Amino acid sequence: KEMTGNQYQVYTPDIENRSLETIRLENDLYKALDQGNEFTLYYQPKFDVRSNTIIGVEALIRWQHPSLGLLPPKDFIPLAEETGLISKLGEWVLEESCRQMKEWYVDGLTNLSVSANLSPQQFKQNDLISIVKRILDETGLPPQNLELELTENLIIHNTEKTLSMIQALKKLGVKISIDDFGTGFSSLGYLKDFPVDTLKIDKTFIDDITINDNNAAITNTIITLARSLQLNVIAEGVETKEQVDFLEHNGCYLIQGFYFSRPVLPDQFVEKYTKISNK
Ligand code: C2E
Ligand code: CA
Ligand code: CA
Ligand code: CA
Repeated sequence: KEMTGNQYQVYTPDIENRSLETIRLENDLYKALDQGNEFTLYYQPKFDVRSNTIIGVEALIRWQHPSLGLLPPKDFIPLAEETGLISKLGEWVLEESCRQMKEWYVDGLTNLSVSANLSPQQFKQNDLISIVKRILDETGLPPQNLELELTENLIIHNTEKTLSMIQALKKLGVKISIDDFGTGFSSLGYLKDFPVDTLKIDKTFIDDITINDNNAAITNTIITLARSLQLNVIAEGVETKEQVDFLEHNGCYLIQGFYFSRPVLPDQFVEKYTKISNK
């Protein structure tokens, strides 16, 4: 059998090859989505090193599983995607992140935006646009305070339908960011056609940016590319002062990573935000 890791198991079509563990987890996922309360969004701040301010937060999901504890997304998002449960889960993420952001907005954080991750699977849903619209209407969050993070892979594959859906999302007024940028080898042509606002440089390039000339070169190319296309550029997974310095020196001023903050719960975020704004 060609299985190099658990990851591959989720693509096995026949149920017999699925581990008992996976089947159990799938069951629990159904239940959790039905009854709610087991999912939590953590928020990781995005910094602008020029102004030393927090410009936004990325919502990152966790599952408080009744017996397995707090599960990171890699333990259940692939399963949710495979089973189609991602539609419902993704809708909850949008609802909760917009509700939370609206609360912060009312509290005066009007310049902040929340970013939600969209799975490529969600683009197979024909009602994605109307769902986003409904959530914006219901929460009353101004659309410009919502950013959707899409992966580069989505854009490379099913181009035409994706393009029209992204255009429809942009029409609603939300911002679009390409996540994990650089990992999918997208061509310049795609970038020209897609109405995106931000490129997010993948962590794999950032990791050894200060010691690996190739990754430094790729990062600089992405920064230059973003600038010439008048797109924003942000680096993810930034952990050290050296990485911050490198990025700042090379013209990438938006930074997200453990160096500034791990993903935190809403209350902890407000505390952080207040501290920074009062400096
Ligand atoms: P991502 O969108 O690339 O999110 C960034 C991931 O890197 C997060 O992991 C974050 O905690 C982690 N990270 C941020 N800064 C650093 C750093 O400085 N060092 C290190 N080592 N890691 C850092 P997390 O929360 O485990 O999420 C993993 C992935 O799961 C995300 O990658 C995203 O693709 C997916 N995901 C998370 N939440 C959602 C969601 O609500 N919906 C969907 N569809 N996917 C989600
Ligand atoms: Ca993301
Ligand atoms: Ca990312
Ligand atoms: Ca990533």
